[in-house]
Amino acid sequence: MADGFPSTYVDSKTGAVKRLATIWDKLETDGLLKGMDYALTLGKMALLAPVMGAVAVVTPVAIWAYKRISYGAAINQFNDALNEQSEMLGEKYRIGEPRHKTEFDARFGDLQPTFSEDYLRMVKMAGLKEVPAIVVREDMMSFFGPVHSQHDYNAFAASRLDGKNASITIGQGIMEQMTPGELRAIVGHEITHLALGHTRDRASWISRRPVNIALNAAVLGLAAFGFVPFLPAVALVGVSYFAHKCLESINSRRREEECDRGAAILTGGTTDLASGLRKLKIISEKALKLQLQQATIMGRIFGRGGASLKIKERSKFEKFMKDSHPTNERREGLLMKFEQKYHTFCEKQRSLFANAFNTRAKPRPKPEPDMDMGFGPGTTVKRFPGGMVIITRGRASRDFPF
Ligand SMILES: [Zn+2]
Repeated sequence: MADGFPSTYVDSKTGAVKRLATIWDKLETDGLLKGMDYALTLGKMALLAPVMGAVAVVTPVAIWAYKRISYGAAINQFNDALNEQSEMLGEKYRIGEPRHKTEFDARFGDLQPTFSEDYLRMVKMAGLKEVPAIVVREDMMSFFGPVHSQHDYNAFAASRLDGKNASITIGQGIMEQMTPGELRAIVGHEITHLALGHTRDRASWISRRPVNIALNAAVLGLAAFGFVPFLPAVALVGVSYFAHKCLESINSRRREEECDRGAAILTGGTTDLASGLRKLKIISEKALKLQLQQATIMGRIFGRGGASLKIKERSKFEKFMKDSHPTNERREGLLMKFEQKYHTFCEKQRSLFANAFNTRAKPRPKPEPDMDMGFGPGTTVKRFPGGMVIITRGRASRDFPF
């Protein structure tokens, strides 16, 4: 892969953006991981077929088809509900419509004076048919009612399976803390998720999970009754269980890398994206420390004086198997490689945006990041007898899923 990113690349001579240069690129990007996953599934079906006959083929295919449809419907439903909710809260801006763009600029123009123009430019460059709505999460619901969510540092893209009714959600914390360049790069990453149809890709991987669960159960069942050799059957189920998880995570990490490259291609913002990621990491680490302090105080209040607190570190294997996002180090490394290889192209892209800078707007001073984030999704807090509290950070990605 010429520049270390999968799927798309920039021609170093002409500066043109190309997709899937060779068959190998296509295979490597779209087919190889999926193919390996299918091969494992087929292997189990082949093992079952001599004993179960056609049932070993028809049942998994039926489960797969059913799940594909039902998950697809659920994703669409969830997406539409998300849209409805943001519309209701007045947080949704269909920036493609002049009236909404004006509203957005009136509200956020002092924080991010160039954003709405930049956004339309990126959407056009990415070749999206519809301009995805922008949702800025200004308020979060709490027990006491809505609270200003300056500590919301999430950014994510969502759409229906066919890419319609798309939106990009940005947390207020991102709006406030990122420079225009960093915000542009982050949103460029999200636009690429939409442009490459990653919602559908995700649905395809998720709907293979139940198929594997059913097949694993069948293989183990047959092994228990002696219809197939016990040890090879257990080994196959074990290997395929881990392999499926690993393949799914590797696929997800590759998608993220594609989107980082998409951000670089759309904006030239290689260092912007890297510094945005660094910023988020610092914020999340500070927040975690604060959570530990809070947990200590809570421990004391509830009579668990002297509670010892620690953050459980995950093993390399666990990260390899579960992480849906590459590490910051890897992402930065790839972005720098892209910058070196296509420096002229990146400069050209960056200049497109520099020209659009709105000099009339005076950015408001950025407030200090608010660390009171609470325990984010994917974080588990376990209390043990004797007062030990262990906070396990969820998948790195779940904290900041962009
Ligand atoms: Zn992403």
